[in-house]
Amino acid sequence: MRIPRVFIPQDLRTGQTVLLPDQAGEHVARVLRLERDAALMVFNGDGREYDATLASLAKHAVTAEIHAVREVDRESPLQLTLAQGIARGEKMDWILQKATELGVARIVPIVTERTEVKLDEERAERRMAHWTSVIAGACEQSGRARLPALEPPQRMDRWLAALADTAASRLALLPDGDIAVRQCTQLDNGAILAVGPEGGFSDNDVALLKQANFHGLRLGPRILRTETAGLAALAALQARFGDI
Ligand code: SAH
Repeated sequence: MRIPRVFIPQDLRTGQTVLLPDQAGEHVARVLRLERDAALMVFNGDGREYDATLASLAKHAVTAEIHAVREVDRESPLQLTLAQGIARGEKMDWILQKATELGVARIVPIVTERTEVKLDEERAERRMAHWTSVIAGACEQSGRARLPALEPPQRMDRWLAALADTAASRLALLPDGDIAVRQCTQLDNGAILAVGPEGGFSDNDVALLKQANFHGLRLGPRILRTETAGLAALAALQARFGDI
């Protein structure tokens, strides 16, 4: 059986006994039915993996003891940022999960003119906590030892205005964009990919993106759903310039 990987957001070191988060403890004890001394891998997002064994399995307190630590390198050399027009409910979870598997470095949930999801401050906080757990789960499953950065949800115009002047290529996914993936030249400094929500970008959104020096990237002659478009672009760019 594959050794289960568990994300534990705290300092970790060899010799330490750590308490597993409730859900992970429940999972290894009741679902996988692991016993004392079973092997586990834990990580906290610092780029290392920690070998551990289950030390105790009380009902609400499953602990593991750390024995060894190693650096792992499963991050793509291509730094990709996905600025995703917030999609409804499970679709957004799906996008975050798959983008993490595909090696995205940073995710920015953006509110565009046609975003249907309303996020007041309290809801935004709860969403962030939920999205972080989706991303952590995708790292557990896919073997990443670093979590992609997740920015708080923000209005696209404000995100564009605050966007640091980096050398990353700026690409907006537009069905009528001027460039195709195969025409992209070297992306040595990474890329920022903006994807519209279910209803697409409005004319005003497109104008703002162009003003901020985004180039239109098209993904073939078919219209893809928002949850397909960003993931297809990430996969295509990782294949051409990254580590797929
Ligand atoms: N009805 C909308 C479709 C939105 S699809 C419209 O016609 O614009 C949601 C998002 O996916 C789009 O805003 C765009 O960012 C991306 N997308 C979908 N198909 C695409 C394609 N063929 N090329 C590039 N981007 C695409």
